[in-house]
Amino acid sequence: MKKEYRTKYKDSIMDYLKLNKNVRFCAADVFEYMNDKGISINITTVYRNLDKMTENGVLLRSKNPTDECCFYQYTEPGSHCEGHLHIQCKKCGRIIHLKGSFMNEFNNYVKLSYGFMLDYKASMIIGLCDNCRDAEIR
Ligand SMILES: [Zn+2]
Ligand SMILES: [Zn+2]
Repeated sequence: MKKEYRTKYKDSIMDYLKLNKNVRFCAADVFEYMNDKGISINITTVYRNLDKMTENGVLLRSKNPTDECCFYQYTEPGSHCEGHLHIQCKKCGRIIHLKGSFMNEFNNYVKLSYGFMLDYKASMIIGLCDNCRDAEIR
């Protein structure tokens, strides 16, 4: 693949990400967005780009709790997602970064008590967010 194409793909994926901060999306959403913009790309290339961005820490990848579909979410530069846990709403899929000094305490506790080094980027705690809980009560 020509370099200019690679850059073009990456740039328009970044455009999509900036428009969809704090929202999870799947490869098909990006694929659709790019097609709408008249950029011809195949879904495999979308996946490859998203996986690369996940490796580079630009994206968080998670599995949908109900099926095995992969979702992605943009992380702002400097959010240090390798240093904290994330909670994901099982209903809307929103991901929240659990930032705070208690993360260090938790990390040390698990390390000392169980000799376990946590891999935050590979872990996701599932819960129910404010909005979805309100919707359930109503
Ligand atoms: Zn994070
Ligand atoms: Zn929710």
